[in-house]
Amino acid sequence: MSVFAWLMMAAPALACTLTLDGPAKQGGLLIGTAPVGSKVTVDGRAVRVAPDGRFLVGFGRDAAAKTKVVAETPAGLTLECPISVAGRDYQVQRIDGLPKRKVTPKAVDVARIKADNAAIGKVRRLDTQATDFAAGFIWPLKGRISGIFGSQRILNGKPRSPHNGVDIAAPTGTIIRAPAPGVVALVHPDMFYTGKSVMLDHGHGLSTVYVHMSVISVKAGQRVAKGDAIGKVGMTGRATGPHLHWGVSLFRTHLDPALLAGKMAK
Ligand SMILES: [Zn+2]
Repeated sequence: MSVFAWLMMAAPALACTLTLDGPAKQGGLLIGTAPVGSKVTVDGRAVRVAPDGRFLVGFGRDAAAKTKVVAETPAGLTLECPISVAGRDYQVQRIDGLPKRKVTPKAVDVARIKADNAAIGKVRRLDTQATDFAAGFIWPLKGRISGIFGSQRILNGKPRSPHNGVDIAAPTGTIIRAPAPGVVALVHPDMFYTGKSVMLDHGHGLSTVYVHMSVISVKAGQRVAKGDAIGKVGMTGRATGPHLHWGVSLFRTHLDPALLAGKMAK
């Protein structure tokens, strides 16, 4: 018997029979379903599995071409699911006319930015048992897409971080709606970059962020249903015009909201 055959007998790994719904591409989110009671790892990291077997796999902007999901079932089976992750080409987006201080912050701004990032980071570490993500996502409002996910950004001529969400231009005051059920995990009246900001937790580490708002109409801890008003479009923080910046992340990995919401209805 070859060593390979012996190893296969010792630890029988079976072909993938898991359901994995969603686009296997950079910026995409998969909703997986494993046999009830399974333990699931993604590239060796354990992920939360709901009582009904659902779990999440996310691919960041620069996700590697290959990922492996492994489920250990209560029956003692090991199901291996290699995933090929499609790459994407990203645009370069130049934005000029931003206030200088919002591109190169003053020393006094840095402490505020750190506090803002800490509050956002805290929400991105949440791993709640809710499965609100399973309800599917709608667009939080209708408008012209003025910024897409992943673009390399040059602000006032200076290279900055890639764009980690989608921008939807709409008149100030346009109502912003929860795209999926969730719990309000953060409300902030004035962040340095993002102005009036709201974050929703949809469970299993999936959170969404809504920024530059003119009005916030929810409170921290409040439960929202899909379609509930959470605030209004504005241009608070770093913005050259009224729009909603909508971000989605699985823990600290930014995902493309447009892949969740699909084509925007006219
Ligand atoms: Zn944006």
